[in-house]
Amino acid sequence: MASLENAIQFKADVDASFDRAGKFTDHPEGLLQQIKTCNSVLHVTFPLPSKNGYEVIHGWRAEHSHHKTPVKGGIRYSPLVDEDEVIALASLMTYKCAIADIPFGGAKGGVRIDPKKYTEGEMQRITRRYTSELSKKNFIGPAVDVLAPDVGTGPREMGWIADTYSLLNANQLNSSACVTGKPISAGGIHGRIEATGLGVMYAAKEVCSIKEDMKELGLDKGLMGKKIVIQGFGNVGYNAARYFHEEDAKIVGIFEVEGGIYNSKGLNPNTVFEHRRETGSLLGMEGVEEYGPEASFLDVECDILVPAAIEQVIHKDNMDKVKAKIIVEAANGPVTMRASTSLSQNGVLIVPDILANAGGVVVSYFEWLKNLSHVRFGRMTKKHEERMTHNLIEAVERASGRWLSQEEKKRVSQGADEMELVASGLEDTIADTYNQIRQKMKSNPAIPDLRTAAYVIAIDKIAHNYMELGIFP
Ligand code: NAD
Repeated sequence: MASLENAIQFKADVDASFDRAGKFTDHPEGLLQQIKTCNSVLHVTFPLPSKNGYEVIHGWRAEHSHHKTPVKGGIRYSPLVDEDEVIALASLMTYKCAIADIPFGGAKGGVRIDPKKYTEGEMQRITRRYTSELSKKNFIGPAVDVLAPDVGTGPREMGWIADTYSLLNANQLNSSACVTGKPISAGGIHGRIEATGLGVMYAAKEVCSIKEDMKELGLDKGLMGKKIVIQGFGNVGYNAARYFHEEDAKIVGIFEVEGGIYNSKGLNPNTVFEHRRETGSLLGMEGVEEYGPEASFLDVECDILVPAAIEQVIHKDNMDKVKAKIIVEAANGPVTMRASTSLSQNGVLIVPDILANAGGVVVSYFEWLKNLSHVRFGRMTKKHEERMTHNLIEAVERASGRWLSQEEKKRVSQGADEMELVASGLEDTIADTYNQIRQKMKSNPAIPDLRTAAYVIAIDKIAHNYMELGIFP
C-alpha cells in the first residue's frame, strides 16, 4: 500500500475506533466531534544545503487536543511521514494520556527524511532548524507542547532540541522540560529509553496474570515459558524483548526489514542485538533458522505476537495467518480496524496500542516533573528511607532474638534509586490502567473488545474535563 493511502487509512481507523466507542457513551455529538477533531496542525518547510544546491525539508507538528496543556508527543523521522499520519498519531497520544491519567493533551511531530541518508552534521542542522520553526510558531515549550522520541529519533536528537530551545529562551528556568527522552546529563531520567519496551512487558504480564482470561484462551497463567514473536527490533522491540527474556518468556522469533530469525528454544535478545549492531543485520547468526525479507513474522507459531515496528502491518490480507492467542500492540496502529475486529471476534486478545505502548509517555511525564522540580527522584528521601528501615529491622531483631547478616540487612534496607522508582511507577500505572479497561469491557457485554473499552474510558475522561472547564456544560 502506498504511503499516502496508508496514512489516510491509519487516520480513518483511529477515527473509526473513536466513533465505535462514542456509541457506548451518552455525550452529545458536538462534544464527541470536538474531542475527535485535531485542534491545530503546523506544516513547515526549510532548506538544507546539499551537494546539488538545496533540498527542501518538510516537517509537521499536530496538536490534537488542548483539553489539557501542555500537549505531548514524539517526533518521527521517516520518509513516510505525512500530515494524516502525524494527526492520527497525535490523536492516539490524546487517548493514551487520558486512559493513563497523564495530565497532557496529545500531539505528534514528524520530519519527512530517511535518517540513514544524512550525516550527523546534517541531522543536527535539520533537528535544530525544525525546533526553531516550532519555537517561532509557539509549537514547543514546557507549558505548551513537549516533544519526545519516536521512530528514527532518540536521546541525541532530544538533546539538540533541548539545547536549541534553551538558546532561544535563555530566561526560561524550565526550558529543558520542552522535550523528554534527553540524555541523563541534559536533564533526562533513568529508564526513559527503555520505558516503552518495559511498559509493553508490564502490559503483557498483567494480561497473563489473570487465570480466568488465560483459561479462556487455552493458555497457562503467567509470562514464564510463553512463546513470543517480535516484529521490529528498534528501541521498543529490543527493550520489550529484553524484559520478556528477564521474565523467562521465550522469544522464539525476531523479524526486521532484512528478514527474521527463529529458534524454538528461545533467542537471547542481547546476543541478537550485539550481532545486529556489529553486522547491520539479524541474519548470519549461528544456531538459528533464518527467513528472508519476503517472509512474514506471522509465519511463526507463538502465544504472543508483539508488532513493534510501524502501523498497519496486520491487515485484511494477512490476518488469517495470525496464530497467536494474544497480540500486544507495541507499535502505534499495527493492526487495522478491520483486522482487529475480525481477530477479536475469533477470540484473539488484542492489547491496544494506547495502553500497550503508554510506557513512553508515562516515564516522559516523570521526566517532565523532574525537570520542573530540578531534583532527581529519591535524592532527598533515599538515605532517610534506608535509616528508617534499618531501625525497624534492628527493633524486630531485638524483639525476636534473630539476627540478619550484614548483607541481608543491606539488601532489605536499601532505599530506592531513580530507576527503581520509575519502574515501580510505570508498572503500577500500566497494571491499574489495564484492569480499568478490562473492567469496562466486562461491565458491558456489548463492548466488543479492549480497544473499544479503552476508547470509552478516554472519551469519558476528556468529556468530563471539557465539562469541568465549562466549555460543554
Ligand atoms: P525505531 O526506529 O527505534 O525502531 C523501529 C524498527 O522497526 C526499526 O529497527 C526498523 O528497521 C523496523 N521496521 C520498520 N519497518 C519494518 C517492517 N516492515 N518489518 C520489520 N521491521 C520493521 O522506533 P521505535 O521507537 O522502536 O518505535 C516503534 C513503534 O513504537 C512505532 O510505532 C512508534 O510510534 C511506537 N512507539 C514508540 C515509542 C518510543 O518511546 N520510542 C513510544 C510509543 C510508541
